[in-house]
Amino acid sequence: MQRATAIIAAGGAGLRMGTSTPKQFSELLGVPILIHTIRAFRQVPAISAIIVVAPAEHRALTCALLASYQLADHCTVVSGGKLRQDSVRIGLALVPDDSPLVAVHDGARPLIAPQDIQRCLEAAAAHGAAILAVPVKDTLKAVAPDTFIRHTVARDSLWQAQTPQVSRTDLLREAFAKADQDSFVGTDEAAVLEHGGWQVAVVEGSETNLKITRPDDLPMAEAILMQKQPAQQMRIGHGFDAHRLVPGRPLILGGLEIPHPMGLLGHSDADVLSHALCDAILGACGEGDIGRHFPDSDPQYKGISSIKLLAQVIGLAQRKHFRLANADITVVAEQPKLAPHFPAMQTILAEACRVEPTAINLKASTTEKMGYTGREEGISAHAVVLMASQPLA
Ligand code: MG
Repeated sequence: MQRATAIIAAGGAGLRMGTSTPKQFSELLGVPILIHTIRAFRQVPAISAIIVVAPAEHRALTCALLASYQLADHCTVVSGGKLRQDSVRIGLALVPDDSPLVAVHDGARPLIAPQDIQRCLEAAAAHGAAILAVPVKDTLKAVAPDTFIRHTVARDSLWQAQTPQVSRTDLLREAFAKADQDSFVGTDEAAVLEHGGWQVAVVEGSETNLKITRPDDLPMAEAILMQKQPAQQMRIGHGFDAHRLVPGRPLILGGLEIPHPMGLLGHSDADVLSHALCDAILGACGEGDIGRHFPDSDPQYKGISSIKLLAQVIGLAQRKHFRLANADITVVAEQPKLAPHFPAMQTILAEACRVEPTAINLKASTTEKMGYTGREEGISAHAVVLMASQPLA
């Protein structure tokens, strides 16, 4: 397959969306529209470069957004022009020489299927230029300004143009030069090619390749996206830990220092509750245990706050596309009374886990003076968590 550069026209002002930022920054299932769009192109192996043409006033925001989704290295962001044709012209000038094809796509069509991009590339390689389109289904009426029907339009040969619109790079450059010479303005790239007399093939696309222009389009697009997503996966994890109580150490539980004559002994701050929680999260992710990730032979973890370790464990889970759904934790201690400290611990743990405090349940138990916890030789903690897979973020 010939190499292709994608030009993502992300210049819409979002006026019909009623938002102050352009529509491509609105989110679908928590991910901005533009990111969904770029990800679809990233899944097509023939696409070797991506040029995002953004409104000049939102160029910095677009760059920051791409960076936050680790896409900055894969895209070039440039400021667009007044009209779509101006923006595409700017993008077209930057298409690398080793890219015989160029695919222009609306930033606000995030539901484009990678296989439809591929089909359009193949048709353009064969015919010089090709666009995705769908046949018109509804009966079309020509309506007079007085809102009365003038006549019914024969729809047999009518198609609605979508994007991508793919062309040989040299052809599109020639067509743009001719349009500029003739001061011709087209509403899409195919119109510019048609104006120059070039043939453009039509590839039948899908009705789900929506262009998001109004707020009403968002819930519909989310529903389509949900169907495309793999079913959510749930993973359970269990953690247990115990530490010895000794004089002369602070007692840290759930990131909180609790007034007590004795504290827990350990290489880190010995926060037994946080350790059990870390182990449960790692277990759910199939990532072994806390000792594997933060060995106590490593001096960098000496005296470290276990809340910092917990935040790192959550970061690791997120990289594996898991988020904490809920945690249920039991601390076994004869002394001190822990319940009064639970709200403060809940806040600290929830922040480290990036969840609402209600997702973290804390319980205290004793062993009725039996065993090592009953004799106050140590404190132990049990944790179970449910981790939910999140949309690829
Ligand atoms: Mg421990």
